[in-house]
Amino acid sequence: MPLTRITNKLTVKTSESVALVLDASESALDHWPEIATAATNLIDILPAGVIQGLWFLGNPKKYPAADFHTKSSEWFAENKNRISLIAPVMETLTAPDQTKIVVLGNGPIFDLADWWLSYAENFILINFGTPLAERLARRELSAVAVSDLTQQVSDPVTRIEIYSGALAPIWWDNPAYEVGYDGTQFSLRAEQAASFEVTITWLGPTTQSIDAIVTRASGKKQTLRLDPVENFSQPAPEEWTPLTEAEVDLFNNVIQHQSFFCPVCGTKHNWDVIRCLDSPSILGQIIYPTVQNLKPSAFVIFKKDSENVSVRACRNTVLELSPDTIAVYTPQTLRILKFNEQTQKWIDTNTAFPQYAQLDRDMYAIVVR
Ligand SMILES: [Zn+2]
Repeated sequence: MPLTRITNKLTVKTSESVALVLDASESALDHWPEIATAATNLIDILPAGVIQGLWFLGNPKKYPAADFHTKSSEWFAENKNRISLIAPVMETLTAPDQTKIVVLGNGPIFDLADWWLSYAENFILINFGTPLAERLARRELSAVAVSDLTQQVSDPVTRIEIYSGALAPIWWDNPAYEVGYDGTQFSLRAEQAASFEVTITWLGPTTQSIDAIVTRASGKKQTLRLDPVENFSQPAPEEWTPLTEAEVDLFNNVIQHQSFFCPVCGTKHNWDVIRCLDSPSILGQIIYPTVQNLKPSAFVIFKKDSENVSVRACRNTVLELSPDTIAVYTPQTLRILKFNEQTQKWIDTNTAFPQYAQLDRDMYAIVVR
């Protein structure tokens, strides 16, 4: 069975969607100024786009939350003394199971029990003296600071882990994700990233579906399935950068395994030296200034083209060496894995990464650490 290449995409909202529900019923009238202030603060503090709409108990009409500042009195008048029922709101929400339903109010919501069984996790109830869920044994917040509330309401994603079994990630478009391999399965993980969205191409024996484990600030975990991407074509990689004439001479020598006079320190080095340690930098300096300027994270590809040689840094930390061999770079290790037909798994070859690994007739790879 040849190895299969599949691509999929993880779409995740960094914050949950929020439905803001206000209580203008008789029992809440005395507290309306506090309810309105808390609502205004929430609208101001939550990232744009998180609040999908504003509702009043007992009314299916959706109001644009951003206009609350100027329209609160008008909307209050429209909804004053409505009965405290959540059903009209629940019935208009597009995906209540994926929405935080934040109710700011005072006194019991009469039909809350009807929705509790299915959506208990989705409700955040905030009362201003008298509980909203009188007969439901359930934590309910009262008089909370808006800053505390924001965390609970938007509950941003803090970490994503994707475990892919025998599918090796060979290309992904979000550098926040780091590859891992524990000897049996691959993973990609990202923490505290600005965006967690990622498109990944995998190489492996199956086309199994892949799940991501999403952890939010509250500690809540959720499993999300990655969506397959059909007929995916990778965006063009970085441009090739030509080496200087001196660097080309150096490269042509070392791929013949000839020692060379180092352009950094001037002394003679063995052919496989890539970083000269006799330099002002603690980490040493890459012997090709052009490569040093690329600021590579792991792999650099050299392309020979008649007299010229060009280079480019790989975006990812996994490199295909041959149709069934990959190099996987992590800050701890650099492994060469080969796909085993019998076990249908990637096996650690326990070999070192060959300096100037030949990928193709005119293509070579080095690893820069
Ligand atoms: Zn040197």
